[in-house]
Amino acid sequence: QKSERLDKLLSNLGYGARKDVRHWIKAGWITVQGEAAESPAQKVFASDVLLEGEPLDHPDGLTIIYHKPLDTVCSRKEGGRLIYDDLPARWLDRKPPFSPVGRLDKDTSGLLIVTDDGQLNHCLTSPKQHISKTYSVTLAEPLQGREAEIMAAGTLLLENDDRPCLPAELIVHSPTQASLTLHEGRYHQARRMFVALGNHVTALQRTHIGALALKDTGLKPGEYQVTTSAELMAMI
Ligand code: URA
Repeated sequence: QKSERLDKLLSNLGYGARKDVRHWIKAGWITVQGEAAESPAQKVFASDVLLEGEPLDHPDGLTIIYHKPLDTVCSRKEGGRLIYDDLPARWLDRKPPFSPVGRLDKDTSGLLIVTDDGQLNHCLTSPKQHISKTYSVTLAEPLQGREAEIMAAGTLLLENDDRPCLPAELIVHSPTQASLTLHEGRYHQARRMFVALGNHVTALQRTHIGALALKDTGLKPGEYQVTTSAELMAMI
């Protein structure tokens, strides 16, 4: 833990602007080690501060495992329902920003990590780290039999891309149901891979990030659980 200015600490945790913190100090709402806070500029440790008697909200970093529902967007302001609508409003105002790790499409549900840890975010998305993502795929047309082989070969070229997809694993469960494991994350990748094979994805859910399985979390759509970067890395 490091000490920092009281007003900066609270505004970076999304509580309000620095001028709001000034008012809260005057009103006696903030204590530091049990004593009324004196000045917005005083240097404090987050764990010593109470706001209206409550400890601060995850001052050492915030990472969640979230079950993204259908029809929500991984954006801060686009039209429609946002993933942030399921989360405390204050989290949107945190610095460093609290952001999804990669994006799931509006019509994709499933596992999504949201974090303010830039290093974790990079580690989970960089193809160099080899963290796979697995999707449950429902298809409009029956699979023809060669899809798994083609995806495994690492030769599948998507429209508008200049290099083929990395090898991916397709496990077929029924003529229109399969699990697809990817080792990179391109725009609309799962859907575009099936378009390239003449099919069409009608439902898509991310079931795994590395070894972390949605079903083991017990999370229902829209629910989340708070974790830490270290705990998460141990699960993945
Ligand atoms: N592939 C897609 O097409 N969409 C997603 O949301 C994730 C992977």
